[in-house]
Amino acid sequence: MTHILALDQGTTSSRAILFNAQGNALHTAQLEFEQIFPQLGWVEHDPLEIWQTQLRVMKQVLAEADPGQSVAAIAITNQRETTVLWDRQTGQPLANAIVWQDRRTVEYCQTLRQQGQQALIQDKTGLVLDSYFSGTKLAWLLESIPGARARAERGELAFGTIDSWLVWNLTRGKTHVTDPSNASRTLLFNLHTLAWDDELLALFNIPRSLLPKVVPSSGVVAHTEPSLLGRAIPIASIIGDQQAATFGQACFEPGMAKNTYGTGCFMLLNTGHEPVASHNKLLTTIGWQRPEDATQSLATTYCLEASVFMGGATIQWLRDGLNIISSAPEVEALAASVQDVADTYLVPAFTGLGAPIWDGNARGTLVGMTRGTTKAHIARAALEAIALQVADVFEAMAKDSGIALAELRVDGGASKNNLLMQIQADLLGVPVVRPKITETTALGAAYLAGLAIGLWSSTQDIASQWSIDRRFEPSMALADRQAKLARWHQALERAKGWAT
Ligand code: ADP
Repeated sequence: MTHILALDQGTTSSRAILFNAQGNALHTAQLEFEQIFPQLGWVEHDPLEIWQTQLRVMKQVLAEADPGQSVAAIAITNQRETTVLWDRQTGQPLANAIVWQDRRTVEYCQTLRQQGQQALIQDKTGLVLDSYFSGTKLAWLLESIPGARARAERGELAFGTIDSWLVWNLTRGKTHVTDPSNASRTLLFNLHTLAWDDELLALFNIPRSLLPKVVPSSGVVAHTEPSLLGRAIPIASIIGDQQAATFGQACFEPGMAKNTYGTGCFMLLNTGHEPVASHNKLLTTIGWQRPEDATQSLATTYCLEASVFMGGATIQWLRDGLNIISSAPEVEALAASVQDVADTYLVPAFTGLGAPIWDGNARGTLVGMTRGTTKAHIARAALEAIALQVADVFEAMAKDSGIALAELRVDGGASKNNLLMQIQADLLGVPVVRPKITETTALGAAYLAGLAIGLWSSTQDIASQWSIDRRFEPSMALADRQAKLARWHQALERAKGWAT
């Protein structure tokens, strides 16, 4: 038994990937599911559809695998923060899952902020008081579904993020667990005590009986119900998607960071075994919890995290909004057809600005155009905008952690763009390193499961497997970089506070 079946339950699709002991993906299956938008700003998923698509892709991959590729363990990684409430008896959800993107609790967050709760919450959870995270979503469900609160108080209901929901279904209701990387996104989990926090539960009025047991990110927590997949398979890891990608990038040591260039950009920096409080509006989060290689005693790794809302989505806008390219990869040749942006800056604050600025009223702007400006300059400015936003969060991470970051590991769809990666290295002043395997999310979960069952002996074993596709060395003079960043910050000022 030398293979790991990784379940990657994402925001738009459920995937299953079979990895071998070299970390290669042998078989993949993927199914999209419905995005439900009941009102402006609301985003829901049907939890049963999530489970059914996940089960189908698992079965598909197992059917494709050769008999010799037997599965030693299942690994779970998932979209984070998305909130499910279900009946412990029947396993039926009480409502659709409220997705991380859903903004229905913005006002509730605002009320709590006015009550001065932000500092307490940041101190205990490492998060900002935002509708992103599960706590206010769960409170909303308990308030809005008739009878839910009374039933929760009688212990009849269960809450979970998607990892918990999957394990519950994989074990047919026998196991109700989550891991610290997911728990740390709920606003209910204390980063310092590594436990659900009574003061936070009281603040959000959440009955403790709803909550899953918190188990390590790596370790066998349960076996699948035998009838589901033909036999009982150990479930050996649970980890949120961005933390999984950080593990999959082998960022095992403090000071190692990865950035995922997807729709948005997500940067995580390993800060070691102590949480680092942010003074630059970043999140402090749990990376993973696992037995240490040498001692086998349980250790928790913390991360600083930042998200940039418009990453690859900026390129989608060039394609769908401006129609100046017909596919995302075309942006590279168009941008490369000019030497520079000719002092044009695009601030893609289409949905406000995230870290390190956090201005929900910022809006997109394009400044510095002359009669000589062409679509090629705009395409190049779009690539630079992605890299400049990432440079700002990179700088904030270095400031918060006090660590001089030596390189940035990259993955995600837009990391395939060589020009973008070179611009990124130039703007960071450190090398940008792209690995051969960019399926880092599923891979990270697979690594954690494989470590738990002895498929890999140590993180060193994994680090030696992790291999580089290409390394981009910075080639811009410091003064030029500083001038460019200064100009970008001027452009940012023009985008802030536009919507009133
Ligand atoms: P997600 O997981 O968020 O759906 P992916 O990692 O699949 O995202 O990356 C898709 C994003 O990357 C899209 O926003 C797309 O515009 C962008 N993208 C894909 N290829 C390129 C490219 N060659 N250059 C720039 N952006 C790209």
